[in-house]
Amino acid sequence: MGMDERAGQDLILVTGGAGYVGSHANKLLHRHGYDTVVLDNLAYGHKECSKWGSFVLGDLADRDALLDLFEKNRFTAVMHFAAYTYVGESTDFPEKYYQNNVANTLNLLNAMIEHGVRRMVFSSTCAVYGNPVKIPIPEDHPLDPISPYGRGKQMVETILEDLSEAHGLRYASLRYFNAAGADPEGEIGEWHDPETHLIPLVLDAALGRREDVKIFGTDYDTPDGTCIRDYIHVTDLAAAHLAALEYLETKHKSGIFNLGNGNGFSVRQVIDEARRVTGREIRTRQVERRPGDPDALIGSSEKASRTLGWTPRFTDLPEIIGTAWEWHKKLNSEILRA
Ligand code: UDP
Repeated sequence: MGMDERAGQDLILVTGGAGYVGSHANKLLHRHGYDTVVLDNLAYGHKECSKWGSFVLGDLADRDALLDLFEKNRFTAVMHFAAYTYVGESTDFPEKYYQNNVANTLNLLNAMIEHGVRRMVFSSTCAVYGNPVKIPIPEDHPLDPISPYGRGKQMVETILEDLSEAHGLRYASLRYFNAAGADPEGEIGEWHDPETHLIPLVLDAALGRREDVKIFGTDYDTPDGTCIRDYIHVTDLAAAHLAALEYLETKHKSGIFNLGNGNGFSVRQVIDEARRVTGREIRTRQVERRPGDPDALIGSSEKASRTLGWTPRFTDLPEIIGTAWEWHKKLNSEILRA
């Protein structure tokens, strides 16, 4: 039976489905014949990005509302994207991150267990590794997160492991590297407020919405002195979520997978490529290192490729930046002006 046939009756709960990665996964689920309910508190998500399935405004802190949601819908699985994602903020307000990303996830898991929903695809992060001792980073690399954000994600991974032992929950913890790019059809994309990520900031400078881009540190141990990151296209991330869901359904096993594209690009390479793609001037300013940034983060996604049959399609930097640019122009010319 193919995925599309089986998917016919499947109803998936997508928490955080109005956010960046969640909205792309939600779109792809519908393309593959799944139905979805998006649950989002719209703290950072955007209603405009939740275009598929039904939408429920709600918060994972509200346990009664969660139980009610599970009462009313027969979910076959949960894709859990809802979380705070500002690493710097997590250092200043750790309690906020542990409450939302850990405690509220536990509310969700309790509701799942109570209602017999035993499959979760979880948004984890390469931040669980901390400073890498080996590149590319495999899944069995030591876990030593250096922020409350990373530690919270690691805690949830541990909780999932224990719940799988105790209750037969099957989960996939997907450790994303740097999510980037936008839906190639231009319907949805990255939309953070405040924005802290490199590519949208660079594109803001290209649009003239920002005077320049700060380069955080030029004395790293890399060929051009700036940090190297593994930018993985958001549509590829979404595809990995579907592959993971199918794996949970057919193999009845849990797993932890890195999702990266295996290529690293430096901050300067990203800016140079953005100049080529946009044809615009992008001014830069060299500033101090940002605390907590390792020299290079590159993931090995060999396990996801072998086990889930997933390989990224948007591996070129021009393609990743090109899709982000198309979306970024639309966001600024149509959506934010509306
Ligand atoms: N970066 C930068 N200037 C910025 C924002 C980010 O030089 O205004 C660098 C940052 O130090 C890191 C890379 O760009 O090396 C990617 O950062 P981002 O915040 O996009 O993602 P992160 O790696 O923190 O998840």
